[in-house]
Amino acid sequence: MTWDYFIVGQGLAGSILAYKLLKHGLKVLVFDDPGLLKSSTVAAGIYNPFTGRKLVKTYMADQLFPYLLSFYKDLQREMGVQLLYELPMYRPFLSVEEQNEWGARLFEDGYSQYINGIIKPTEALNQVVNPMGGLMLRKSGFVDTAILINSMTELLKQHSAYRSERFLYQELKLSEDQVEYQSHLARKVIFCEGPSLGNNVFFNWLPLIPVKGELLEIELQEPLNCIVNRGVFILPVNGSHCKVGSTFDHEHLNWKVTEKAKIQLLQKLNKLISIPYRVTGHTAGVRPASADRRPFIGLHPKHEPLGIFNGLGTKGVSLAPHFAEEFFNYLEGGKPLAKDVTISRYFSLYYNKN
Ligand SMILES: Cc1cc2nc3c(=O)[nH]c(=O)nc-3n(C[C@H](O)[C@H](O)[C@H](O)COP(=O)(O)OP(=O)(O)OC[C@H]3O[C@@H](n4cnc5c(N)ncnc54)[C@H](O)[C@@H]3O)c2cc1C
Repeated sequence: MTWDYFIVGQGLAGSILAYKLLKHGLKVLVFDDPGLLKSSTVAAGIYNPFTGRKLVKTYMADQLFPYLLSFYKDLQREMGVQLLYELPMYRPFLSVEEQNEWGARLFEDGYSQYINGIIKPTEALNQVVNPMGGLMLRKSGFVDTAILINSMTELLKQHSAYRSERFLYQELKLSEDQVEYQSHLARKVIFCEGPSLGNNVFFNWLPLIPVKGELLEIELQEPLNCIVNRGVFILPVNGSHCKVGSTFDHEHLNWKVTEKAKIQLLQKLNKLISIPYRVTGHTAGVRPASADRRPFIGLHPKHEPLGIFNGLGTKGVSLAPHFAEEFFNYLEGGKPLAKDVTISRYFSLYYNKN
């Protein structure tokens, strides 16, 4: 059989890219290894225009955020399931300086559109420690990534575009303008293997820096109606049922939960929460981060029919919709990729290795 694209991996990267290609009437065959875990189904799914301890605007926030909202809204309409949950994000203040700084930013161009308001100490939330009030941000929320992946698998099956099996690199036959795999032909194969990129014999020269993360699930005595973020995040996925996360571990790159991470999360949580809760779950996963924290997108330096969409790191939910669109425009329209995401920034690593 002949296809336009093979896609290897059906996490967020492979799902959203496959969806774009299908929407444009292209023939896609997706391979996903059921024996591997997905970073995407472990993820809390949060999108949030600010990041880090100092709360700076995230990479390309002004372009990514309007697009991601319309993308997930369209997708959930088409799938007939709720994927997008828009929730404000609350950050308790720790000092008067912070109160003043954010009070001034309320009127600054570039910030004001993301700020819902300043919560005064007299209006402080009951569920968390916030005697000085805090900052309420908007354009944040979460995507139910597990439902997204499952719904996408069903959609792919309806298009006869899904194979639940490991893609074997050694069985891929390359020619100048197409690939052959087990008697199937395609114009290109796009690899979206997330943290398993290291197994890919064609792209393992790219500097993937995987980062393990762990999350707790808790049941709060009272429901929360916003995400709280200070040291850890508390994400109310369903009223009083919350996810708490997450840890960052560059050394132990397995998918096992640890007592050490649980203690670390509980210590931070106990500083933030002011009502009783009980722990109901604990999960772990590995994020596919890149050395410069930018995605890996593009075609192989020597074999044009091979491409990659990976390196979504800690922000798959906000990066995947925009960059799948950008990759599509490159693949089918020849529009150049942005300099900071194209894998050509790392071609020297490939040539030094070969
Ligand atoms: C604890 C934790 C919390 C996180 N929280 C957030 C968050 O709140 N917000 C956010 O935006 N991001 C979050 N992330 C990051 C997010 O999970 C990633 O950015 C994103 O899921 C990466 O998607 P992916 O498709 O690249 O990889 P994955 O989801 O890992 O998918 C890769 C797929 O490739 C398949 N595969 C690999 N090799 C082969 C092969 N040879 N043949 C066939 N299939 C193959 C695997 O089976 C898998 O299904 C979190 C991650 C972790 C671990």
